Amino acid sequence: MISNKQTVSSYVVMLDGGSLETLELTAAQAEGFECLTCKTQHTTESGAFQPVGRIPSIGTVFQCLKCAGGAR
Ligand SMILES: [Zn+2]
Repeated sequence: MISNKQTVSSYVVMLDGGSLETLELTAAQAEGFECLTCKTQHTTESGAFQPVGRIPSIGTVFQCLKCAGGAR
């Protein structure tokens, strides 16, 4: 995780599929640096991340493949 981006706030996330959901996310998750579910940092070692939605005016949010492919 990215230690200086752990402030948690509520974000309205537009999920792929069109539904809007209010989620409590860290800044790092909201800015697409960490998995939305397990907070694994998005690095080359952690492998590909999959975009799962976006936060208007901030950017795209991601899940790691483990979370995106697992129980959702
Ligand atoms: Zn994950």
